[in-house]
Amino acid sequence: MVSRGCCPAKIGELTLWWKGPLWLHKEDADWPKKKNIYCQADEALLEARTVSHVLSTVKYDLSIVEKYSSLLKLLRVIALCRRFMHNASKKERLSGALQAGEIDKAESSIIRLVQASSFTSEIQDLCKSSQVSPKSVLLRLRPFLDKNNLIRVSGRLGNASTLNESQQHPIILPAKGVFTKLIFIYWHDNLMHGGQQAVLSAVRQKYWPLNGRNIARHVVHRCVKCFKYRPAVVKPIMGDLPEARVRPAQAFKKTGVDFAGPFIIKSSLRRNALLNKAYACLFFALLLKQGT
Ligand SMILES: [Zn+2]
Repeated sequence: MVSRGCCPAKIGELTLWWKGPLWLHKEDADWPKKKNIYCQADEALLEARTVSHVLSTVKYDLSIVEKYSSLLKLLRVIALCRRFMHNASKKERLSGALQAGEIDKAESSIIRLVQASSFTSEIQDLCKSSQVSPKSVLLRLRPFLDKNNLIRVSGRLGNASTLNESQQHPIILPAKGVFTKLIFIYWHDNLMHGGQQAVLSAVRQKYWPLNGRNIARHVVHRCVKCFKYRPAVVKPIMGDLPEARVRPAQAFKKTGVDFAGPFIIKSSLRRNALLNKAYACLFFALLLKQGT
């Protein structure tokens, strides 16, 4: 009763508290038959509980990814930012040209950001129970978090010792997003403007982009250089066929002639055989297109 808004001063007079609902004193047959009997007992029983809803959404800032149109430039910028943070916080300073390890760490940090932005609930599920929700788009890929907190595909190549980790378990990338597109553009350029299948195969050596086939097609289709080297051929509209080709008649009543040459042929199979000129003359029935 206390939880339903009754103060201690009134509880002494409250028969419901001391004796229970009225129907409880009657015979069983007279008890109310509705399931929700407590609601009938007293309308004041409605629980006076304050409910507050708090909706919190985490937004990830991907503006730095969207600033660059080149994957390599983006990686170098991120690597330099990480180096600045390192030099500002530690005594041991890094200097000189960027090292491969720094580029790799920069790439991992971008992918973590992109994955956190697109697969927020999946990452929470994987941290809690190592499984994603049955409604997740990643369910079929059996994703898992690696030691760098990147979501990877489980796949079936765990025993393929000749492959590296990325080939066995590619990193999952969202279908939408600038970073995924930058990777496809990079490989399209790297493969000398390769076709969509070649680009997709190269990308899948390390990543598993969702809807990758469509992204590859889109990137190849939108490439200006590829468009210039693939001009549309103008096909002239053909005129009507001549009357002799379409009116029924005897074979070879109307004939056509094709003449070609000269072709240089040997007069025999000997090595020093004489070379002669030859001409080809082809007669054909116009109606049936039978040659002779
Ligand atoms: Zn191209």
